[in-house]
Amino acid sequence: AKQNGKSHFEVFNPAMHDAARARLELESELRRSLERDELYLRYQPIVNLSSGTLLGFEALARWEHPRLGDVSPNQFIPIAEDTGLIGAIGSRLLGIACRQMAEWKASSRFVDDLSINFNLSAKQLSQKGLADEIRAALHESCLPADCLRIEITESAIMENLHVGVELLCELRESGIRVEIDDFGTGYSSLALLHKLPLDVLKIDRSFIGKMLHSVENTAIVRTILALADSINLDVIAEGIETEAQRSQLQSMGCNFGQGYLFSKPLDCDEISQLLCQQCNP
Ligand code: C2E
Ligand code: CA
Ligand code: CA
Ligand code: CA
Repeated sequence: AKQNGKSHFEVFNPAMHDAARARLELESELRRSLERDELYLRYQPIVNLSSGTLLGFEALARWEHPRLGDVSPNQFIPIAEDTGLIGAIGSRLLGIACRQMAEWKASSRFVDDLSINFNLSAKQLSQKGLADEIRAALHESCLPADCLRIEITESAIMENLHVGVELLCELRESGIRVEIDDFGTGYSSLALLHKLPLDVLKIDRSFIGKMLHSVENTAIVRTILALADSINLDVIAEGIETEAQRSQLQSMGCNFGQGYLFSKPLDCDEISQLLCQQCNP
């Protein structure tokens, strides 16, 4: 088809055809997932690296399709973004997260000090009235603003800097904390980072995973920690899988982390049990 400038589609590529069909199927099924209520959240604990105490949880989207089984968020979030479904999906998930948090709060005083991290994707940043929607979701579940932390990737902010900064300012003025996700993978300049309204940097798990075998990655992590310290930001290291990684991070002055070493993302009942244990050890 390449030689023929007039040909617009590659009719004779069956592999491509299959991929396109699979994608179309996922799109229409994702649309239906909202009506059929197939989306839910898992919650991954975020902990203090030296004491092991719980700081809160990150809410992670899950889709359980009756026929296709579990579809990864790495697969369906991009489709949700491309099709514009991300707005509806994001609102649904935020509602679930807030109601769940309110339920946990009602069950134990210990939860008053915990917060829930919620991911926003690049496409959601430019959604009009997003800050209002987030405040309304908190209000509906009678939650204080400091209960919620919003995670936005570095590249999402850079994609739409003006709108991004405005949203971050608005959220922080309401008392909602803002965290930069996957930090280190984007290209934000240090000068710019200094000006962004932020509370936390989350170091991307690719750096943590390679830290022990690579001086470069250790140097990157050390640099991020020094940078965060110089502008008074907290740091959360993602994807901690081994005790060696935990202790190295702790010795470099990283206070918080999450990863399989502490816990995989858990369903809401498992979190309820965990909270019960923390209250009555
Ligand atoms: P993320 O925000 O960087 O989330 C962290 C991912 O790392 C999660 O994958 C989590 O399950 C995984 N993880 C946590 N600890 C470890 C570890 O020790 N080792 C390894 N190898 N992985 C670990 P998950 O749940 O598959 O989510 C993938 C991505 O999908 C997220 O990456 C995020 O970008 C996106 N996503 C998930 N939920 C939402 C959501 O509600 N909204 C939006 N916009 N994006 C979401
Ligand atoms: Ca995240
Ligand atoms: Ca991340
Ligand atoms: Ca990521």
